[in-house]
Amino acid sequence: MTDKPLVDCCSSPGLLPFEQAMANMLALITPVTDIENIAITETLNRVLAEDVVSPVNVPPHHNSAMDGYAVAATSLTEQNLTLNLVGRSMAGAPFTGVCQQGQCIRIMTGAKMPKGCDSVEMQENCQVDGEKITFAQIKKYGAHVRNAGEDIAIGQPVFSKGHRITAVDLGMLASLGIENIKVVRKLKVALISTGDELKAPGQVLNEGDIYESNAHFISGLLTKLNIEIIDFGIINDDKSAIENAFKQADELADAVISSGGVSVGDADYTKEVLASLGQIDFWKIAMKPGKPFAFGKLPNSVFFGLPGNPVSALVTAHQLALPALVKMQNAQAIKRVTIKVKSANDLKKSAGRIDFQRGVLTVNEQGETVVNSTGSQGSGILSSIAKANCYIVLAACQGKVAAGEMVTVELFDQYLQ
Ligand code: AMP
Ligand code: MG
Repeated sequence: MTDKPLVDCCSSPGLLPFEQAMANMLALITPVTDIENIAITETLNRVLAEDVVSPVNVPPHHNSAMDGYAVAATSLTEQNLTLNLVGRSMAGAPFTGVCQQGQCIRIMTGAKMPKGCDSVEMQENCQVDGEKITFAQIKKYGAHVRNAGEDIAIGQPVFSKGHRITAVDLGMLASLGIENIKVVRKLKVALISTGDELKAPGQVLNEGDIYESNAHFISGLLTKLNIEIIDFGIINDDKSAIENAFKQADELADAVISSGGVSVGDADYTKEVLASLGQIDFWKIAMKPGKPFAFGKLPNSVFFGLPGNPVSALVTAHQLALPALVKMQNAQAIKRVTIKVKSANDLKKSAGRIDFQRGVLTVNEQGETVVNSTGSQGSGILSSIAKANCYIVLAACQGKVAAGEMVTVELFDQYLQ
């Protein structure tokens, strides 16, 4: 497996190579530095603003991994396997005395090892006769004992600054007894969909209308980054409506994401309005889907102008806007995992643009890992990505692919799932 970036080698003239677009964009992003100290229960998908070092040993004491009997291993010999039961150690109610040679202690899983004991025998291997416990065999020193600090030792680095907190991490932090941690403040992102033809789900479609979908999946992606969304809904192709929405969005948000109106069309006022508000570049990126893409700075925020076609909007949001927002969150960069596998199908492709085709990584009947195309790859075919679990990434210089050839596959990360 490799997670090396894919470098385009031969983009078409007039088109900005994908890697260059990414670099230009990231160079303009300034990470947020405001910090909040909040309860760990509120930190799922937030970004750590400090390194976390363990303040304790986990587990805090040597304890039993089994329900059984605790002994000093030296108490058991081939000649004498019967010991006197002298006490109990339960989870949360340890034995407080000292276990002597020839003695044993009833112990339950997780209970603190009694003083004088170093090993545990599971109850299935012991015969009980009143206070006499007969062991089936001698014990190796340390058998069935979980040592203090064997999971995490006191002072051990656990997470570094910029780490995004996962569900598992919530448990890790709790196991360290940490109640509050410092995280980067939440980003606010304004979402705008432009187009006279767009209707929200639930509304009636007039002739020529379609349902708005872009803002819905973008909002799903942003939610996974724990970003606060300011939803401006659908804005008509009306110059002053667009201007008002962009101005307000810029005042309220750290970043503004709009979709539609970045290609050249009669009713696309986005370009005109943005030119008057800020410093926005309109790129033709050597990528497919997603050629038109606008990026730059408004007076108070950064601006991402995604193409209107849903697949283009989704791929540019995921491949370009997300890494930029992650940098803005002062988070560690997303690591994209790529592998080389056989393509199960012929793939259409013309040289000049990096292509993010959609595929399903599967194991075929011969037990080989292969990638199947999800079929029609048009930039309006949202089902091509809904069915997929990976991108088939074809470099700019590459032409069509024949079934059986090796291709690079980029696994969908947690943001797309
Ligand atoms: P545009 O970039 O505005 O010319 O839009 C390109 C195509 O994407 C058109 O077919 C639009 O109807 C469609 N489109 C634009 N915005 C959205 C949206 N938010 N949801 C779904 N389709 C859209
Ligand atoms: Mg439009």
